[in-house]
Amino acid sequence: MRYLSTRGDATPRQFCDILLEGLAPDGGLYLPEAYPQVGGRLAQLRQTYADQGYAALAFEILSLYIDDIPAQDLRAICAKTYTAEVFGTPQITPLRRLEGQLFIEALSNGPTLAFKDMAMQLLGNLFEYELARRGEELNILGATSGDTGSAAEYAMRGKKGVRVFMTSPHGRMSPFQQAQMFSLQDENIHNIAIEGVFDDCQDIVKAVSNDLEFKRQYKIGTVNSINWARLLAQVVYYFAGYFQATQADTEKVSFTVPSGNFGNICAGHVARQMGLPIARLVVATNENDVLDEFFRTGVYQVRGAAATYETSSPSMDISKASNFERFVFDLVGRDGARTRALFTDGVARQGRFDLSQDAAFADAAARFGFASGKSTHADRLATIRDCAQRLGQMVDTHTADGIKVAREHLGAEPMIVLETALPIKFAATIEEALGRPPERPARFDGIESLPKRVTVLPADVDQVKALIVRHCGA
Ligand SMILES: *Cc1c(COP(=O)(O)O)cnc(C)c1O
Repeated sequence: MRYLSTRGDATPRQFCDILLEGLAPDGGLYLPEAYPQVGGRLAQLRQTYADQGYAALAFEILSLYIDDIPAQDLRAICAKTYTAEVFGTPQITPLRRLEGQLFIEALSNGPTLAFKDMAMQLLGNLFEYELARRGEELNILGATSGDTGSAAEYAMRGKKGVRVFMTSPHGRMSPFQQAQMFSLQDENIHNIAIEGVFDDCQDIVKAVSNDLEFKRQYKIGTVNSINWARLLAQVVYYFAGYFQATQADTEKVSFTVPSGNFGNICAGHVARQMGLPIARLVVATNENDVLDEFFRTGVYQVRGAAATYETSSPSMDISKASNFERFVFDLVGRDGARTRALFTDGVARQGRFDLSQDAAFADAAARFGFASGKSTHADRLATIRDCAQRLGQMVDTHTADGIKVAREHLGAEPMIVLETALPIKFAATIEEALGRPPERPARFDGIESLPKRVTVLPADVDQVKALIVRHCGA
């Protein structure tokens, strides 16, 4: 399998070439040159999943896209990643019925209790493997407001050849999120609390990455959601959800996905393009509804930091969806020049593009199955209450957004909502809704009182660079 850029650069690259890279050199995102078709192999994949479990299914899907890692190595990486010890259950992503045809697929039983573990744990093992093979090292520099940073740290802790430098806004993450990250004592994990807000952290990461000399000398890399390997890892659980909800491959299902950067649901798009029988892919947003607006109107209008609301589903507080370009590339018939124009002349220069008059948009729903909806703080509270009081199930705020929107799109087929986090991560809103705190998995008892390992720095690029230099011993 070869990879190309959404902006037209077709220099052939293989999986491991793009594994450690971010954007393509022309500023686009990487995609496979074609989606492998599995329509005729579904029964076989279903059997593999039933007999050998999630890790074996992951190997079957991943191997369609990766031919520069020997099969036995890739199989071992999948087996080491998707274990009951790491993900809490032998099914890895168990499906449960909420009511009627409405199901929840749990993606949130990994080490940090959010779905980002599903991809990040694989990425950690792939990085370690590829860096050892090349005899190289990598220093991952990131900015987090919570879920991404902790998932990255738990995936990279103790890995050879990798260090993590994770910036976060000092004092602004929930006590639980701070405890998760700062209690890690691994030597290769470095928490940097920046005296500022999340945007200050992001600006520091950008400034360091734009210093090409420093970036090369200190082998700076990232693990953000545009990484193709992360997206590919997520494709697997759409298959696992489908196999759990159906008996036969003639049946269809729909998915509703709480969305921010369009990464999770983009993996559903890839699964559907591969021939998985998905009727509809429903995008659920919170008050930051740029994606809902696009799917309703054909206008993609990004917003600045000032127009991005702080909500009670904070991992979706995003007003520029970094993976959206991948879908748009497919939508416009894989026209790289057109995609480039939409995202440079359009998004970068004018903050928007308008496909409302375009034939491609007119039949987007029919061709790609997309639908969308939006959920607000009041909806979230009402959904959390209804699920707890009437159905006896506690759900997190992001999953509640998904359930609210899924209910507006129910059809005859099973509707699977992806559970993207556990309630304990967002305890304050659960208490607001239910008047009592969420359940806490036993392994997290008392983590707030563990010793913390974090360096507090002012929002100053040079001081962050100096810290990196100190720990690299170069
Ligand atoms: C990251 C995240 C999301 C949004 O996922 P995208 O891939 O960015 O659309 C939703 N819910 C939770 C809990 C998350 O951590």
